Amino acid sequence: MSEALLHALKTAVGDAHVLTGGDLGAWEQDWRKRPPGKALAVVRPGSTQEVAAVVRACAAAGTSIVPQGGNTGLVGGSTPDASGTQLVLSLARMNKVRDIDAANLTMAVDAGCVLQALQHAAEDAGLLLPLSLAAEGSCTIGGNLATNAGGTQVLRYGNARELCLGLEVVTARGEVWNGLSGLRKDNTGYDLRDLFIGSEGTLGVITGATLKLHPLPVARLTAWAAVPSMDDAVALLELARRHGGPGLTGFEVMGRFALQLVAHHFAQLRVPFLDSAPYGVLLEISDHESEAHARAQFERMLETALEDGCTVDAVVAETMSQAQHLWHIREAIPLAQAEEGLNIKHDIAVPVSRIPAFCAETDTLLRTAIPGVRLVNFGHLGDGNLHYNVQAPEQADARAFLAAHEEQVNTLVYDQVASHGGSISAEHGVGSVKIDKLPRYKSPVALELMRTLKRALDPENILNPGRVVRI
Ligand code: FAD
Ligand code: ZN
Repeated sequence: MSEALLHALKTAVGDAHVLTGGDLGAWEQDWRKRPPGKALAVVRPGSTQEVAAVVRACAAAGTSIVPQGGNTGLVGGSTPDASGTQLVLSLARMNKVRDIDAANLTMAVDAGCVLQALQHAAEDAGLLLPLSLAAEGSCTIGGNLATNAGGTQVLRYGNARELCLGLEVVTARGEVWNGLSGLRKDNTGYDLRDLFIGSEGTLGVITGATLKLHPLPVARLTAWAAVPSMDDAVALLELARRHGGPGLTGFEVMGRFALQLVAHHFAQLRVPFLDSAPYGVLLEISDHESEAHARAQFERMLETALEDGCTVDAVVAETMSQAQHLWHIREAIPLAQAEEGLNIKHDIAVPVSRIPAFCAETDTLLRTAIPGVRLVNFGHLGDGNLHYNVQAPEQADARAFLAAHEEQVNTLVYDQVASHGGSISAEHGVGSVKIDKLPRYKSPVALELMRTLKRALDPENILNPGRVVRI
């Protein structure tokens, strides 16, 4: 790094927060433990003004910046490439709740706040921040917004985008745009906020956000149902929507092999009904009246499901700790998969009505193409979003399997997604992993509009180059 840039960075954030030597592994490798990149430096600003100063210094030096929150992204977006020329801008020190406005049902926060800390802060104020995902103990709200994260309550409350009313952003020139409005209505031109949400750090650095809160439900009940087929899971979803209405806040489907992995690697998590049906479904009802009301609703719904045959067994958690236990099983699936070995991940979406056909066809195609392949299928059925992952055959070497089959598997799965009118990324984003896959599945018009935006907002291409779209 040039002396001038080093000096400017140290002046901006203080010597202690410009890391150039020692072990930078924590910032250079992401959650999936792909081969690490190499950072020019890791810079840890403590305020919006410091972020702006860092971006200005990098812009002057022509140095590219990789914004990083909790580094839980799964698509190679938050870590530097191997060139040793990209600077990691960590938002982790910006972790203050700025303001909670209970009457307006909003919360203004720094981008580096960990999601779980924000859930607790909202709850302490008697309110609900409904964004919830398995990485919530590490991921940051800035990362959630930059990736438009989803999670387990999207079917009721929407993605991160729906939960954000305003943003504060540092532009590629190092200017600060204060768009931290708590307004629910504002039609004064283009929606700049929506440009930055889901842009994966390629259009600006998010430094703050105003989030939408909701009244805290009086009761939350969780149930587990054993389901004979994906068709039945969709039938159960329809039934749950009819009975639960807006009270239905969770609907997660889990294939048997995914659950077997949890049972195998985390034996303390006893998985219900593992032998009774090929799918488990986790349902959650939130109620603003009473627990008794929610329980009665659940019992009626599940009775009907058992009569209809779309469920063969079901249980409603009796206590909070039983409910947590059921959610732990769901959240342990990605961890159990990692324990089992390297695997090929997909976070795809197709219309809910197409999910059974998509799974039946794609399962068959994969099993024919690669005998013995193991399918780890689970996800947010209520949103038509599945984590349709592929694990090596039982005795195979996982690394060799990936080297031989990753491209083939991706193309097969994504072509299937496209033929069912779906998206090749419903949650994790494009990052560097899918950047060269996008042109096959996105229209040339859409891609050119994306390039137009990138060129306009980041003409020197210093913000997360090599992610989302190439210019
Ligand atoms: P990072 O990983 O640090 O960054 C992600 C991207 O955002 C990168 O491109 C980065 O450059 C950019 N970025 C980060 N912070 C900023 C900022 N302040 N300004 C501009 N750009 C920024 N995702 C889901 O959507 N739903 C799930 O259910 C889900 N479950 C997960 C479960 C596990 C176990 C794990 C490990 C991940 C899961 N994810 C899920 C993916 C991941 O948690 C989300 O993408 C999350 O939103 C990333 O947040 P982060 O702070 O870790 O961001
Ligand atoms: Zn998910």
